[in-house]
Parts: sequence; C-alpha cells; structure tokens
Amino acid sequence: MSSVRSLANPVADGFAPYRWSPGLDEVALRHNLPREAVLKFDQNTPPLPGVPQVPLAHSMARLNEYPDGSYRALGEAAASYVGLAAENVVVGAGADDLILLLAQVFLGPGARASIDPPTYALYRIATTLRGADVVGPDDDAALDWVCNPQNPTGAWVEPETIVERARTRPETIVVVDEAYVEYGGRSCAPWVDELPNLVVLRTMSKAFAFASLRVGYALACPATAALLTERRAPAPISGPAAAIATAALLDPRLGDVEATVAERERVRKALVNAGYDCGPSGGNFIFVRAEEPLAERLEEQGIVVRSFPEGIRATVRRPSENDVLLRALGAEPGERIGREATILRTTTETALRLTLELDGTGRSRVATQIGFLDHLLTLLAFHAGFDLELVAGGDVEVDEHHTVEDVHAALGAALSQALGGREGVARYGSAVVPMDESRATAAVDLVRRPHAEVSLAFHGDRVGALAVTLLRHALERFAIEAGCTVHVEASGADDHHVAEAAYKALGQALRQAVAPGGAGIRSTKGAA
Ligand code: PMP
Repeated sequence: MSSVRSLANPVADGFAPYRWSPGLDEVALRHNLPREAVLKFDQNTPPLPGVPQVPLAHSMARLNEYPDGSYRALGEAAASYVGLAAENVVVGAGADDLILLLAQVFLGPGARASIDPPTYALYRIATTLRGADVVGPDDDAALDWVCNPQNPTGAWVEPETIVERARTRPETIVVVDEAYVEYGGRSCAPWVDELPNLVVLRTMSKAFAFASLRVGYALACPATAALLTERRAPAPISGPAAAIATAALLDPRLGDVEATVAERERVRKALVNAGYDCGPSGGNFIFVRAEEPLAERLEEQGIVVRSFPEGIRATVRRPSENDVLLRALGAEPGERIGREATILRTTTETALRLTLELDGTGRSRVATQIGFLDHLLTLLAFHAGFDLELVAGGDVEVDEHHTVEDVHAALGAALSQALGGREGVARYGSAVVPMDESRATAAVDLVRRPHAEVSLAFHGDRVGALAVTLLRHALERFAIEAGCTVHVEASGADDHHVAEAAYKALGQALRQAVAPGGAGIRSTKGAA
C-alpha cells in the first residue's frame, strides 16, 4: 500500500516536526541513572505548578457540556490583566494554537514569513505547514515572527522598535510573542489598538505556571481580533482550563516570578564568573553560548537542557536544583543554599503549595481563601522570622476543614524538611504572649518525638470564615508532620485574641528552637 504520506499536502524539504527534549525515563535508561536523579531544565516552565483558585469540582460538574465558545469571562479576565478590552482578546489552546492560527489566516503557498534565529521552533513549523517560505529578519515578508524576550537567548528589545517596524510596514503582520514578558522586557500590548497589523501573544504556561492547562491569548485591535476568532476552532479550551485561567488572570499570583528573576541573576553570575558566555536574559532561563557539545555532557549526568547549534538553554529552577547544574558545568554556586523547603499537595479536596524559608525575615504571602487563617499564619511566620509563601485552593464551599488541616500538615512537613538533620539548632523554644485580655504560652522541642498538647479556650465556634474549633486538631497535625513536640495553651475573653496570641507564641517559640548556633538535638540519653 502506498504510504498515506503521499496523500498529505506536500511540505518543504527539510521540514522538521516539533521535538521535545528526552523525558525522564529515556534519560535514566540511556545513562543508567535512577529516574529520581534526572533533572529537567528544558521546558521553560516554573518548577512548581500554579494553584487553581477555583474548586476543581466546580468546573468538573459540567464536563458533559461544551464550554461557552465566546469565552467571554476568560477574555474579560485577560483584558483586565493586560489593561485592554475584551474585544482585543482572542483565546486559544496555548500560544502554540494561536501561532498556528495566525499562519493559517495570514500565510499560504509562496508567502514569506521572517524569523530571527535562533528562535522558537514553532514559527518555522507553522510557516512551512502552510507552504510558505521562511526568510531572515531583514527581508520583506507577509508576516514577521518576533519573540520578545527571545527564546532561547533571553535577549529583548524595547517595544518601540517593534512598533516602529509595524507602523512603517502596514502590509506586514507583526506577531510579537511575549510568552516570557513577565520575567523581563516591556509589552507591545499598548499599541495594538493603534496598529491593526500588530498581534501580541501571551500564555498561561510560563509566569502563571499552568502549562498543562493549554491556555494562551492573542491581543490585537478589535477588527483583527474578530477576524482571528472567526477562523478559530469553535471551542479550543476545555471548560476547567478556562475557569482556572480566568480566576488566575483576575487575581494574578505571580510570586515566583520575582524569585525566579533573582535566581536567574545568581545563576548567570556564577556562570560568567566561571568564564562562560552567558548574556543577560529577560526570560525564566539562561542561554550559554558554546561550541562544545555541552548538552550531551550534561545529559550523561542526568541533566537535561535544550540544545541549539549556538549553545544551550537552561530553565531556572529552585536554588538547590540550579546548584546541581552549576556544579556540573564546573561553576561555583556562590551563596549557600538556605534552610528552605517546598511542599506540594494536591488532593481531590485541596491543592496547595507552600514554601518555607527558616532564615527569612518574617515575610509571608498567604492565600488560603480563609481570611482569619491567613491572618494567623502571617503572624506565626512574622514572629518565627520565617519567609512563608502559601497558596491554597480548597473545597471551602463544603467547609474549611480540609484546607485548615492540610495547610497545617504542609507547614509541619516543610519545617521538618527545612530543618534537615536538625544539627546545630537550639532545639527548645518557649514564649508567653499576651494580647490584651488574652494570654498564650507555647513550648517547642525539636527532638523527633511528635507530640502535641493543645488547649485553646474559645467561647464560640468561629472567628470570621474560620471555625476556630478546628485549630486544636490542625496544630496536632502540624506537630506530627513536623516531628516535634508542641505545647500551646491560650485563654481570654475574645476568641480572635485567643487564637492570635496562640499563633504569635508558637511563632516566638519556633524562632528560638530553630535558631542556629545550638548544640542540636543533644540529649542526656545519648541519641534522641
Ligand atoms: N512561545 C514561546 C516563545 C515559547 O517558548 C513557548 C513554549 N515553550 C510557547 C510560545 C508556547 O506557549 P503555550 O504553552 O502557551 O502554547
């Protein structure tokens, strides 16, 4: 039988389909490494997933129905995020879907599209699939693919440069792919109303950490946006994905971006110090120009990066993971890795991500959907001197039980992980904290004997959206997961004060117990 390929539309010679870097299993097998030893620096996605801010059960309840094909709510959310109107927005199943749509609408056999290599591989693919030709950035073209900041180099140009190009060539569609713009550079979005040939692409896959949802959007003047929407598939984004993306765009929680940018600079500095050619980057990745086959050398050690003829691209991950890459490249990581830990938990009831840094400054970013719980954890972190980032989305429409318990369990687990071997800590801590008429005492022993004695004398059941009666059990979970002994006692006339004093006292006690400079877990019985 003749190959079905002979029936397909012809593509130019040398057409190369999109290729992913090898997966964990493939690398592990190829180099005889345990799967856990393989680290992927190739995807340009944040190390931790975004947390859905809508209960998943909600959107799952309508899986039999098509999503609203106008995606009005998502369009409005994207518009409010970028400061434009819903009429400027075209949603798609990731920026990739929109790249293919743009090629479909504006390119055909014999047309020319320009790219500036090295650049994102899909521009060439989308162009070639339409039978159009790929040309260089200085050539006249029906469409310019501009990636800003550029993947893979991280280089970026000022939007005015691109806008000028669109203004002087009104017959050329200028597509500005801003997949990484949250990490650096400025957006061309403010000019789309003025220039009908300017289309800006954005994604939920990078700074929002929702690559798996497959949601992206294009920004264009209303007439261009309407044209694109007319030619789009009827409902390219799943209902749950649209619901999660809508909530995230309305209340963006991009806390990881700042840390990623700081970490990117640390990694770059270490590489430059080691003699590598690693230029400034506006993305969540760095690019090392090299002629030698660095990618192959790294892969033998279980480190997967993206390989280009010009060099390698590596995604910025968490500090301890980046240090593995730096050491493999013979670079000195510099500052030591802190006492940090990250806990990720997703159940059918809650989804949460918690990062705890013991040697912090008491900063916190807590969002559990339960205001008074946020307040208590913020106080605890402040008094403990911890940096705490916690995002939790739970089934609070059932009640807050699962969220309260899971958050305390995760905090305990993070404390235990961040303490590592518990060497050199003070071990004990205790505090008495008054809060007006209320008074709390807390005592902590970091020896690995999980035990809790919690006595909180509340008069009622609730403070705000929190059933304070849940706190006793939640603190017990904290102690068990932290693997330490916790005593907390509080009483007073006002339940708000009672709870507040208890969490402040626990924070103060923890601050003393985790303080470095002690003898660690020393016991008169010998090993603890
Ligand atoms: N544009 C660029 C420049 C990219 O690097 C990527 C993904 N690596 C995409 C678009 C794809 O985005 P999405 O996940 O929204 O399809």
